[in-house]
Amino acid sequence: MRVGYGWDSHEFRDGVPLKIGGVALAHHQGLAGHSDGDVLLHALTDALLGAVAAGDIGAFFPPSDPKWKGADSAIFLEVALKQVRQAGYAVANVDSTLILAAPKIGPHAGKIQARVAELLGIKADQVGVKAKTPEGMGTDNAAIAHVVVLLEKRTETKSSPAKRASATQRKSSGS
Ligand code: MG
Repeated sequence: MRVGYGWDSHEFRDGVPLKIGGVALAHHQGLAGHSDGDVLLHALTDALLGAVAAGDIGAFFPPSDPKWKGADSAIFLEVALKQVRQAGYAVANVDSTLILAAPKIGPHAGKIQARVAELLGIKADQVGVKAKTPEGMGTDNAAIAHVVVLLEKRTETKSSPAKRASATQRKSSGS
């Protein structure tokens, strides 16, 4: 088993759509960032990469690269998940805490939980989504996310012999 931890923060800004955990939320401000500013998916991406010691989100997707401007953060997550699979692991569960003054996450937590589970290819009851307000922190203009992931060794029964053969082929061709 492996554990991974990720943290991220983004500043609220006018005229930007708000997206958290791959879910668009109605709010008068969104999170500024080079990509879509999805603070939860960024922390989750770092947690996955960290769990298999594969570096961090900035190494894979440098903010200096114009290619990632306005990018859907689900792309980052997909690449991190690929690293996890290549290392021979599967996601056992995820837990997260969001810290933000507004909007209230409670009414949307179920939707965020379902979307994150869908992106990871796991069940909703394997994804924890919690939220707090930044009491006494002075960070009302930001959204912060903390994420931990637990990985377990992938069992061979989950992939068919044909899939394994093509995976070996891809590996040996170096792509
Ligand atoms: Mg970020």
